[in-house]
Amino acid sequence: MPDNGAGRLAGRVALVTGASRGIGRAVALALAREGAHIIAVARTTSQLEDLDDHIRAIGGSATLVPLDLKDGAAVDRLGRAIHERWKKLDIFIGNAGLLGPMGPLSHIKPKVFEELLNINVTANWRLLRSLDILLRASDAGRVIFVSSGAAHKNKPYWGGYGMSKAALEHLALTYAAEVADSPLRVNIINPGPTRTAMRAEAYPGEDPEDLPESSEVAEIFVDLAAPAYGKTGQIVNFKPRKK
Ligand code: NDP
Repeated sequence: MPDNGAGRLAGRVALVTGASRGIGRAVALALAREGAHIIAVARTTSQLEDLDDHIRAIGGSATLVPLDLKDGAAVDRLGRAIHERWKKLDIFIGNAGLLGPMGPLSHIKPKVFEELLNINVTANWRLLRSLDILLRASDAGRVIFVSSGAAHKNKPYWGGYGMSKAALEHLALTYAAEVADSPLRVNIINPGPTRTAMRAEAYPGEDPEDLPESSEVAEIFVDLAAPAYGKTGQIVNFKPRKK
């Protein structure tokens, strides 16, 4: 599909965080397959290079950005670099995330609590701050944040992760309201249980074969990233196909 100008996202520039593995990697591939140029962000360079190989193999293109999202100054530089090269950003997928410890709130170490907030919330705010002007420069900017059902469940031992995702949703929905009079559309996807390293960490006893693969989940991201998608301020729950 890429390079022939026929994909649903032909000519669009898309930044995907957490593109090195799991859901982010599958979303990067799905967007590239529809013709988007991918700006792939994560820390693990070898996995970003592997993604790049796969994107090239389907005729797409990517720019690799090995970056620790805790580095706010680097996030600011990323915004400037995108401005210099493209002057706009069409799609921002805020996917990178951390599960953190599964245990009582009172047992979470302060440094760990801080890191959860840093990756799951502050990094996304910092990205929005850096990318806002670029997203507004697009004719149909699309922002998608990846949340979780844990944001709404108040489940014991999931407090750190759930709290951070609830804060992320607040951030996303407020941004959606702030840009409502622009062409920007800002939505949240809850992928539901998906076969990734994070899910295996949360549920080590589970058979991964029972879960949808990231590639299945990724398709809904393409729908919401397309210029034709008109809704904003939505929380969209992915429903897997019945086996
Ligand atoms: P994975 O753990 O497989 O992937 C997480 C990604 O985030 C990796 O690419 C990782 O890259 C990146 N990341 C983590 N920390 C940093 C950092 N400091 N700087 C840059 N990148 C970072 O998780 P999933 O694919 O399962 O999860 C993706 C999203 O989906 C998350 O937001 C998660 O909360 C959400 N989600 C997942 C569900 C599931 O069942 N899997 C269910 C509901 C929500 P690297 O380590 O290379 O930096």
